[in-house]
Amino acid sequence: MSTKKVPLTREHIEEIIKTYPTPFYLYDEKGIRERARAFKSAFDWVPGGFKNYYAVKALPNPYILKILKEEGMGADCSSLPELILSDRAGITGEEIMFTSNDTPLEEFRKAKELGAIINLDDITHLPFLETIGLPDLLSFRYNPGPLKEGNDIIGKPEEAKYGLTREQLSEGFRQARDRGVKRFGLHTMVASNELNVNYFIETVELLLATAADLHRELGIDFDFINFGGGIGIPYRPEQKEVDFGALSRGMKELYGKYVTAGGLKDPRIFFESGRAVTGPFGYLITRVIHKKDTYKTYWGTDSCMADLMRPGMYGAYHHVTAFGKEDRAPAGTCDITGSLCENCDKFAVDRPMPELEIGDILAIHDSGAHGRAMGFNYNAKLRAGEILLREDGSAVQIRRRETMEDYFATLDMSGLDSF
Ligand SMILES: *Cc1c(COP(=O)(O)O)cnc(C)c1O
Repeated sequence: MSTKKVPLTREHIEEIIKTYPTPFYLYDEKGIRERARAFKSAFDWVPGGFKNYYAVKALPNPYILKILKEEGMGADCSSLPELILSDRAGITGEEIMFTSNDTPLEEFRKAKELGAIINLDDITHLPFLETIGLPDLLSFRYNPGPLKEGNDIIGKPEEAKYGLTREQLSEGFRQARDRGVKRFGLHTMVASNELNVNYFIETVELLLATAADLHRELGIDFDFINFGGGIGIPYRPEQKEVDFGALSRGMKELYGKYVTAGGLKDPRIFFESGRAVTGPFGYLITRVIHKKDTYKTYWGTDSCMADLMRPGMYGAYHHVTAFGKEDRAPAGTCDITGSLCENCDKFAVDRPMPELEIGDILAIHDSGAHGRAMGFNYNAKLRAGEILLREDGSAVQIRRRETMEDYFATLDMSGLDSF
């Protein structure tokens, strides 16, 4: 029995498929909006104000960004096209956070031109950025190194390429202050897909204590403190989602202890969450086209890991629901496969499923972040399009599926015959 729900019936999805053939990504607008509101309202106590800068890389679609902007979010970008996408979606100026690393100068130039907040990943980026002029507001990314344990997915902070050491942080803010920067931000991100709320609360303590120390040391105040992304989602039915309320209560206590008691002017509080905002509200919709019985039973779909690489790449669990069979008990286990010439191209391995049939429509859950965005063209596979399920139940295409022309677009075939 499936404990994860799909937001529409088999009849409804069949109706959508008449216009948009499988495979495609389906995003549930209602779910996304409700999640965004819950996130925001959990932090409405923050005196300086609260904002989540949605990590554009998780679902880089301007229609989704426009919805998130309406719900009060900004955009967290780390490349030139992401900056342009955000600006085009109406997320402008300081509603854009540029948290990049190993950054080319043209990208800093574009971020400056857009008035985005620049968050530097290294102390050497300060003189690098100064060649085009330092902005009024500048942030640094802190890597706490051995002070923080790290989580399974992002690894140990000491081994992560991101951020400045504690000593570099003091030096960076000092230099920035002396070179005329007026407003300061402090950032860290030491988790990925983390479900333990205490891990985040520990990070909050570490960063707020660091801000208070820097304030004492350099006499600077912080315009904002940015806790990055990494809030996990329960991919497995038995897992529990991160409780925004518990995170907020934990933060509130520490805020009094470090910010208020430390004499800091009320900073704004930011996150850069991507996965937790849209992840649970996206589904890869695919049809079963083959059944194969060899040493195991394989159900072959019309999609593959070029559309969704997480299961094949990381062995990540994604729940699968067969439309119309939501309440049926498992009839045994099977593998659910794609068509790549790679044996890891399986959406599920040894998965208990109800009795399937050719023609069944499957929803691969929790694909609304780091799903379509991580797609690729290996085996000359054409990536799926994206459909938005509106709150009134209608479906609109927000990205068409790739065509053969798209695949050939980077090849100049005209020179081939005379080559
Ligand atoms: C990937 C990333 C995020 C978003 O991570 P989620 O796991 O989607 O919340 C935020 N900030 C930075 C700098 C990132 O690299």
